[in-house]
Amino acid sequence: MSEHRPSASHSLGERFEAAFMPTYGLPPVALARGEGVRVWDADGYEYLDLIGGIAVSSLGHAHPALVEAVSRQVATLAHTSNLFLHEPEVLLAERLIGLLGAPAKVFLTNSGAEANEAALKLAVKYGKAGDRPYLVAAENAFHGRTMGALSLTGKPAIREPFGPFPVEVRFVPYGDADALKNAVTDRCAAVFLEPTQGEAGVVPPPDGYLRAARDICDATGALLVADEIQSAIGRTGRWFAHQHDGVLPDVLTLAKGLGGGMPIGACLGLGPAGTVFAKGDHGSTFGGNPVSAAAALAVLDTIEGEDLLEHVRITGARLAADIAALDHPLLAGVRGRGLWLAVVLTADRAGQVQDAARRAGFLVNAVQPGVIRLAPPLVITTELLATFVAALPFILDEASHD
Ligand SMILES: *Cc1c(COP(=O)(O)O)cnc(C)c1O
Repeated sequence: MSEHRPSASHSLGERFEAAFMPTYGLPPVALARGEGVRVWDADGYEYLDLIGGIAVSSLGHAHPALVEAVSRQVATLAHTSNLFLHEPEVLLAERLIGLLGAPAKVFLTNSGAEANEAALKLAVKYGKAGDRPYLVAAENAFHGRTMGALSLTGKPAIREPFGPFPVEVRFVPYGDADALKNAVTDRCAAVFLEPTQGEAGVVPPPDGYLRAARDICDATGALLVADEIQSAIGRTGRWFAHQHDGVLPDVLTLAKGLGGGMPIGACLGLGPAGTVFAKGDHGSTFGGNPVSAAAALAVLDTIEGEDLLEHVRITGARLAADIAALDHPLLAGVRGRGLWLAVVLTADRAGQVQDAARRAGFLVNAVQPGVIRLAPPLVITTELLATFVAALPFILDEASHD
């Protein structure tokens, strides 16, 4: 409906294109505000938010607990740098260790890529100490866009313009335990894996894959790094996705949903991996700043206090079942867990589905040419999700025609 593009969004879009590097293309809508699971664009049109800023807005928009925590903290102490410590970061690190249920040490960052940079530097240092010169990651993996994180990202189109990279990374097909076993030797420093691949299109591995990866790392001494930047903080109905498999990684990275919209990430080293970094090995001026740490604590308190893990398991299972029960020629099926689902199409029309959904008042994400990703705020209700399921056949019809 670009010919009817509303004026405020349109003129902001023109200024956006003039002022910004073209890395993102032109987003289709300018959002102006949000409340709960709804957002409004610059022209006042209302949408049900089924993507949550890519699995970030875990409490939805303007959640009172987040607003209160951030407002209080910014009015009290917004920044210390790492020259000084502060209570919110200590509480947050203790809290994350508690949720993990295993001894660990934390490094706080501002983003997902930075959490993986910390994990990568940790792995390189571990590798240097033990004559382990290479790393293993999965094809189609997404670990971020900075040079280090990009070196682990298994998508040739976004890697190749920027290579060669300073670390050797060997890529294996995701979900293939035999391929992993062949690739990981006692010369491998670390294996980086997403418990379910997010940007690849919410692709879960076969059952037992994470357990196999754990066993392979135990047998060779390679570190198992779980990139849970997208999968953690309740997204799958557990605090961490690896908890579904009953395995612990050596290193865990977090970001997206942790701050509920405030930028924060974390790299956790479990057991001996917590002491690979020594004083001076890493740092960040803003990482774990008081405001973002307070936001993360509010997110964790709310998930716990409102029993959102159980809520996510119930609403997610219901949503997946309701979509799977639809019969439409463009719909191949649904996969994923909790409130993190892929609607798989029978044709590469995800862009058209995303557009048709938006015209119908729903924000979804065309994560792959034939896959729609849903990652709504964890607080969304079954009743509101049912409005999307009811509209989906019409949305798919629209996307099939234009
Ligand atoms: C989003 C994401 C990243 C990168 O996080 P940024 O905050 O965008 O740097 C890394 N790994 C995974 C699995 C992600 O989903």
